[in-house]
Amino acid sequence: MTFCVKPWCACLALSSYLLLTAGCSKQTPAQATAAAEATTAAAAVLPSPEPSSPSAGNLPKPNVNGSHVLQYVRQVVAFGPRPPVSTAHLKLEEFILSKLKGLDVEQDRFTAQTPVGKFPINNIIAKFPGKKDGIIVVAGHYDTLYSQPKSFVGANDGGSSTAVLLELADQLRGKPLDGYSIWLLWTDGEEAFVKWTDKDSVYGARHLAAKWQQDGTAKKIKAFILVDMIGDAELDIVKDTFSTPWLSDLVYKAASNLGYQSHFYQWSTGIDDDHIPFSKVGIPVVDLIDFTYGYNNVFWHTPEDTVDKLSAQSLAITTDVVLETIRLVDQR
Ligand SMILES: [Zn+2]
Repeated sequence: MTFCVKPWCACLALSSYLLLTAGCSKQTPAQATAAAEATTAAAAVLPSPEPSSPSAGNLPKPNVNGSHVLQYVRQVVAFGPRPPVSTAHLKLEEFILSKLKGLDVEQDRFTAQTPVGKFPINNIIAKFPGKKDGIIVVAGHYDTLYSQPKSFVGANDGGSSTAVLLELADQLRGKPLDGYSIWLLWTDGEEAFVKWTDKDSVYGARHLAAKWQQDGTAKKIKAFILVDMIGDAELDIVKDTFSTPWLSDLVYKAASNLGYQSHFYQWSTGIDDDHIPFSKVGIPVVDLIDFTYGYNNVFWHTPEDTVDKLSAQSLAITTDVVLETIRLVDQR
């Protein structure tokens, strides 16, 4: 993902209560890092989240084991750098599919034309049927940066989103849902191959959004919840101004219900990410992303994006807030 760097949107988008210069320059704010440190310290003494109320039916309680999610990150990172067409990417696809055995799984395979040639891309979708008519999609990318094939393992950027979705699959397995159907979507080709532009980015998301618009699926989707870079030990999820306002507000309500609001929306900007193509076809979207990964975002897209920068607690908070958001969407 990236900040939107077009002057018309980046500068207008910075209506945050922390005044930033970051959006226009792709730099990240020191202020936000300080805020994240403060909020992390505060969260350490928070009690376990109260069970959701009113009843969430048989939706899993937002009380996941963050160590288990972190273990998934370790397993994903162990494959090495995972850009499209790499052996590690293929192994990760097999790993994800092995965890989805017995579930209703769809693979959306196609060939993407990139600035450096044609690449096979594969979005993976696991479908959990619900009683209500409609779908909630939870998505995150599993590819890593192509331009850093040798040294970039993407623990946070690619690894954390993959792991949160794997955890959600474990949580949802074998529990017929009273609410909307839930589709877990591992997107591919999120990263640019050369330089982030509208055409060189979010390949899998653009392909699937077009497909879902064409086959009528888009109309059935009540909410599209994207997670990206959400394992940072200093968790500070930005308020993305390109997200759908009511859904963005619902995420904050979910975080507040669980006592995690200090990790959310300390600052805001427009984020260009996998959710945008789905927004363009009329689907309500929200992007949960922490774009202050280390001081001034220094770990982002560098070999420093390693597991030691993440925490089980941050992964648990994000996964729990996603589950609570699903519950709130079900009740709307
Ligand atoms: Zn990235």
